[in-house]
Amino acid sequence: VGSMGQPLCPGTCLLLSLLSPPDAEKTPGYWNKGARRRLELALALQPPGDVADEKMGLGQIPGQCMGLSTVSAARIYKGQLAGGSGEESVLAMETFPHVALAKTYTLDRQVPDSAGTGTAYLCGVKANAKTLGLSGAAVYGKCHTTFGNEVDSVLHRARLAGKSVGIVTTTRVQHASPGAAYAHSASRGWYADTNMPKEALRDGCKDIAWQLVHNTDINVILGGGRMYMTPRWTPDPEYPEDADQNGTRKDGRDLIAEWLNAKQVGCEGRGIVPTGTGCVPLALALLSLAGCPLHPSIVEMTEKAIRILRRNPNGFFLFVEDEIDHGHHSGRAKQALMEAVMLDRAVARAGELTSPADTLTVVTADHSHVFTFGGSTPRGNSIFGLAPKKAKDKRAYTSILYGNGPGYSIRDGTRPAASLPDKDYRQQAAVPLETETHSGEDVVVLAQGPMAHLFHGVQEQHYIAHAMAYAACLEPYATEPGCRASRRASHGTQCSPQPLLALLALCMAALIVRD
Ligand SMILES: [Zn+2]
Repeated sequence: VGSMGQPLCPGTCLLLSLLSPPDAEKTPGYWNKGARRRLELALALQPPGDVADEKMGLGQIPGQCMGLSTVSAARIYKGQLAGGSGEESVLAMETFPHVALAKTYTLDRQVPDSAGTGTAYLCGVKANAKTLGLSGAAVYGKCHTTFGNEVDSVLHRARLAGKSVGIVTTTRVQHASPGAAYAHSASRGWYADTNMPKEALRDGCKDIAWQLVHNTDINVILGGGRMYMTPRWTPDPEYPEDADQNGTRKDGRDLIAEWLNAKQVGCEGRGIVPTGTGCVPLALALLSLAGCPLHPSIVEMTEKAIRILRRNPNGFFLFVEDEIDHGHHSGRAKQALMEAVMLDRAVARAGELTSPADTLTVVTADHSHVFTFGGSTPRGNSIFGLAPKKAKDKRAYTSILYGNGPGYSIRDGTRPAASLPDKDYRQQAAVPLETETHSGEDVVVLAQGPMAHLFHGVQEQHYIAHAMAYAACLEPYATEPGCRASRRASHGTQCSPQPLLALLALCMAALIVRD
């Protein structure tokens, strides 16, 4: 790449590693100027003390499974996709002025899962692994421990406060991360009644799909998981020939029809719901499931959701999740990094559609992975490339490696030489496992917008839900002094059109649109 980023080697650019960094970077002035720009940005930050605002929008964008190493690698990948060296590239989420670290352990696990962490950053309470929307008093898999231990998410509280709320995910909408926004379940695996043990059904627990429709009045739902919503054998509208996509419910209920009926769709046509004060737009788009074919992208879904939700003058809360997790679990780094780059594009689009003057946007991850890259690679090395020197076994190795997972490849004591990967290449792992595991390190939290300065320092992960609730004057912070002042002000000025956006970016996998 030339001095200002123009590609010198169109095409794969594998030769980048042989080129020296741009000449400008060799001068102190280059670095001093850049640092001065950042210093000016820092000096312009709102000092702490700006008041909470119940009209504000809240955006929460969790990048599921997007640890710091994934963020760094995605940044380089993004830059290399654009023809650059990569390292100097800037992710949209990296332009957010406020940063914190979150400790992701759960009550029972040093290295967490998505259900326990989702309950933390959405409901504000650390909990046990594999449980959703329940305090740590609930026991995994034990239905009878559900009752009395329910904890409500910021999404639920935002809806109660009159905001529109939405969920966007590239995985099934009943998955653990979005599930923590609306469900209370002793098992993250109780997608439909079919997936529940008899004992749990007998004790009165409801499956997660049922709760999606009946717990919280959610205005926008975009994601996968259609099969859990319709009676057994119901052919999928998109894949009627594929029996694996058929409905799975034993109770015979059609939850999609129930959702539409409950919304009394019809105010100004389909997809618009009448409320006490007029029409609140909504959308339900469920994809078939499982694999998550490449339907609408996370960028398109995020845009669709914001355009609908922002019409509510009381503001909105949107949860956006991209499934970076699956690529890592399968040991396929390219899949994971492609998702991470897509998530960043969704963050950028959300930024174009909202204003930091009235919208708090938070980007974080539920947990990290045992993903790493190293090996003294030169500047501009393909992020999927080889380290410059051979290993002690005289074979090449990729910069990206996993601590464990399906990429383990030693046979008869011999490690095969690493090859340059295609999309499905599994980077080598030190320990053989069927699926690569999460890791226990902290995750980054990036924030911009009103009260974004609350996201600072090293925090427990459940603090995220509290900071968002405080910023938006949601329970239990609805009567904080700043909120009362703001409420008086808004009453004085007829009606304020300011939305509240909360974007949280995690890991997701597929979806659809039908409104
Ligand atoms: Zn995972």
